[in-house]
Amino acid sequence: MDARSEKALAGVFPELADKVRAAAAKLEKEQTFLLVVSGLRTAAEQQALYAQGRSVKGHIVTNARAGFSMHNYGLAVDVVPYQVGEKGALNWNPATPQFQRMVAAMKGQELEWGGDWKGGLGDFDHFQMSGLPVSPSLAMRTDYGVGPKDLSTIWEKAEEKSYAV
Ligand SMILES: [Zn+2]
Repeated sequence: MDARSEKALAGVFPELADKVRAAAAKLEKEQTFLLVVSGLRTAAEQQALYAQGRSVKGHIVTNARAGFSMHNYGLAVDVVPYQVGEKGALNWNPATPQFQRMVAAMKGQELEWGGDWKGGLGDFDHFQMSGLPVSPSLAMRTDYGVGPKDLSTIWEKAEEKSYAV
């Protein structure tokens, strides 16, 4: 994967990063290359996104406050394919065969796809770890607090599947 993708993957749950790399390797054989647009989002970054369209000018882009997005836990990534080759324009259209091949490859890694959720923002580029609640549960948010310095305790619990689905 390209440098920007690897930089985004460096901040997420290692098992998630490995799954994304495995899906990307499979797709590269079919000449489809992925970009990880977003990985870990800190509490401060999430709060700034949430403020957009509310206390700050702009369009509303998220309904999740800090601690309410799996991105804050490093347990979610946003990924899209490049339209052609490994740079240039991105393919944001989930209806295209290429995008669907990406979704299939990611699901093949047992990742959950945001496009399968009903009534949400239509999170088509969003993939997250399965075996966890769809949204951060009270137990997860309690462990998160105001934004932990390091996520290792939460990642251990995710690994042990000790957060009830
Ligand atoms: Zn996302």
